[in-house]
Amino acid sequence: MDNKPEFRVVPSPNSVPGAERARILENPGFGKVFTDHMVTVSWDLDKGWHDASVRQRAPFQLDPASAVLHYAQEIFEGMKAYRTGHGTITLFRPEENARRFQASAKRMAMPEIPEELFLESIEQLVRIDRDWVPSGDGSSLYIRPFMFASEAFLGVRPAHSYIYCVIASPVGAYFKGGEKPISVWISDAFSRAAHGGTGAAKCGGNYAGSLLAQAEAAQHGCDQVVFLDAAEHRWVEELGGMNIFFVMDDGSIVTPPLGTILPGITRASLIRIARDSGITVEEKAYSFDQWQQDAASGRLKEAFACGTAAVVAPIGSVRHAGGEFSIGGGGVGTVTHDLRQRLVGMQRGSREDVYGWLHSIS
Ligand SMILES: *Cc1c(COP(=O)(O)O)cnc(C)c1O
Repeated sequence: MDNKPEFRVVPSPNSVPGAERARILENPGFGKVFTDHMVTVSWDLDKGWHDASVRQRAPFQLDPASAVLHYAQEIFEGMKAYRTGHGTITLFRPEENARRFQASAKRMAMPEIPEELFLESIEQLVRIDRDWVPSGDGSSLYIRPFMFASEAFLGVRPAHSYIYCVIASPVGAYFKGGEKPISVWISDAFSRAAHGGTGAAKCGGNYAGSLLAQAEAAQHGCDQVVFLDAAEHRWVEELGGMNIFFVMDDGSIVTPPLGTILPGITRASLIRIARDSGITVEEKAYSFDQWQQDAASGRLKEAFACGTAAVVAPIGSVRHAGGEFSIGGGGVGTVTHDLRQRLVGMQRGSREDVYGWLHSIS
């Protein structure tokens, strides 16, 4: 039943012409334009994974009773393909995305797509849409694998059929202004996740629940929201879609532990890079009270958020119900800048891939 299906490849008969594509790639923005193709693979209780295809990107036909529209059985991934200086196209640690996608599926009572099938789906799409991988500074092809419950049934139980799909979108820098520090709002009304909940799964529902808090952050003039834990409303967890790091005056780094947060691949990679360059990295609970004290005393030198989309974003200022403060004078700290350079350098092939993290596509 879990034999790997063969991909049926049907190139799109009306791909975007080269000249227009080149114009789009000059300034793609984020998540607004899409490549010519998509991958879909179906799963159902009887057949398992079947009907794998690469074809023209097109809307789905969904029954109004499709389970995802009612009970939100949906998960996704986010990864990037980079055009390196050597002209090859590479993915960054795609096996990690495959494993996390399986973990998310498990939590949401969905079928786990085999790692090999996940990786082949990504390679198939990047190969057929390779001309959509931009080469500009800070730009890449953002790849969005996702899966949802497609069964038409209103009973409450795990669905019996699912559609796995991969689409891709050429992107420029996530935050306009590149390394310019962002401002964050500490949400006092909302939490993102609770123990026993779905915080560690990359599911659409977590994002739906974060949008009001993100809108509140925007109302307070901030770029992003920071969530505290649900039980005590005291411990820093993460942003709506990025993990968070703190750099202390002794050069050590603190980042919240796994559990209710999303286990970021950028987070894990930065921890590895930092530790291997002699930096002490502690994964431990850090309270918002402590954050304020450390910012006031000067013990906290830098803070940054990280994730695939924005890579590393320095945090310059913090607003909360009781006031506001800045970090490191609101500039970009040297540790933050250094870590970013090292990670981006590896991803883009300008630094040696000492960990074997790159996966090139032939
Ligand atoms: C995807 C995501 C991250 C970052 O994960 P990466 O693997 O580094 O891209 C962090 N937090 C949340 C809530 C996420 O959804």
